Amino acid sequence: MKLIFLGPPGAGKGTHAENLSKQYQVSHLATGDILRRHIREKTPLGIQAKDTIERGELVPDTLVNQMMFAEIQQVKGGKGFILDGFPRTIGQADALSEFLESGKMKIDAVVNFVASESVIIDRLSGRRVCPQCNRNYHIHNIPPKKEGLCDRCGVALIQRKDDQPETIRHRLEVYHKETAALVDYYKKKKWLHDVNADREVGEVLAALKLLFERLKISL
Ligand code: ADP
Ligand code: AMP
Repeated sequence: MKLIFLGPPGAGKGTHAENLSKQYQVSHLATGDILRRHIREKTPLGIQAKDTIERGELVPDTLVNQMMFAEIQQVKGGKGFILDGFPRTIGQADALSEFLESGKMKIDAVVNFVASESVIIDRLSGRRVCPQCNRNYHIHNIPPKKEGLCDRCGVALIQRKDDQPETIRHRLEVYHKETAALVDYYKKKKWLHDVNADREVGEVLAALKLLFERLKISL
């Protein structure tokens, strides 16, 4: 299974990629999580990317491409991967196509998470994350069992700096300016499949599984 999850921030890409990766033992390669790991570990890339991420801007293509290709190389030969949040620009998509072709790898599908702006804003403002395992929660929709604590690690959940109202608005602008064009890009390749992501988690998951069955994607 080799999938790309496309869609605006807050559409639920990470939540569903995490669910599917656990269920089908595929690697969940989330660009944002990997970048935040670099920031925590104060690597040269993390130091370079920190301010950009906190402002809600995109990290330059060359840095992200290199980082993601190294991640894909590591899972090559396994059960597959879900790219969550990559590519996010036409430049990244072109570079990814070239990289996959050179490694004789093929993407099974690009899933486009379609979500309305009011849902996105509500989800991002209520998102809380575990700083240790990256698991996502939502204060109302998907609360942890014990308020404020990760079910898995027991550590205190945090709100991401880029989930503040001003930065959310800016990230949505960046999505429309830089990333939305990938919908047509992958439509032209006939790889794109829309999923209505406004619905609750169980319904979105069921729609994803139906899609995989229809496309005969082996899990
Ligand atoms: P993305 O990875 O696309 O930025 P996330 O998966 O982090 O989005 O989801 C954003 C927020 O919305 C999180 O707080 C998550 O718990 C919540 N969420 C995700 N999918 C749903 C859903 N279908 N219904 C309600 N809340 C959701
Ligand atoms: P996310 O966790 O997917 O919401 O991403 C958080 C932030 O990481 C984004 O707002 C960007 O600053 C950065 N980022 C994530 N993916 C990419 C990408 N493909 N290209 C550039 N920057 C990215």
